[in-house]
Amino acid sequence: MPLCPRCQYRNAPDALQCSQCGLQLKAHGHPGIPLHQSRGGESLCMTCTYHADDTCTFPQRPEAQTCTLYSAIATHEALPDRPQDSAVAMGRLLRRNGGWLLLIALILLSLLIAVL
Ligand code: SF4
Ligand SMILES: [Zn+2]
Repeated sequence: MPLCPRCQYRNAPDALQCSQCGLQLKAHGHPGIPLHQSRGGESLCMTCTYHADDTCTFPQRPEAQTCTLYSAIATHEALPDRPQDSAVAMGRLLRRNGGWLLLIALILLSLLIAVL
């Protein structure tokens, strides 16, 4: 349940505006488009991933008080692994457990030969 950035009221996930203070929570009247809002007048861009990597082309940058695409730098790190990260993790797993994996593969191959 999203908190209202103005009054901290806990609203329903699809609420278009805050039930308590009326602040707009979604953009374009669509419950699937969250409208991120700054607190205390500071710019959202200063903590946004797209400002940090210089990929944002929105005209309100770097002074955006509201934005539909805001992606906080801290939460961006919690996104799922990129494919190359998964490949590196798989390589590390194979290196650490290569002996066991080879043994399991030999057992499975032996069972397959015995069955056929
Ligand atoms: S996506 Fe929005 S918050 Fe992020 S840099 Fe662009 S305008 Fe600023
Ligand atoms: Zn509110």
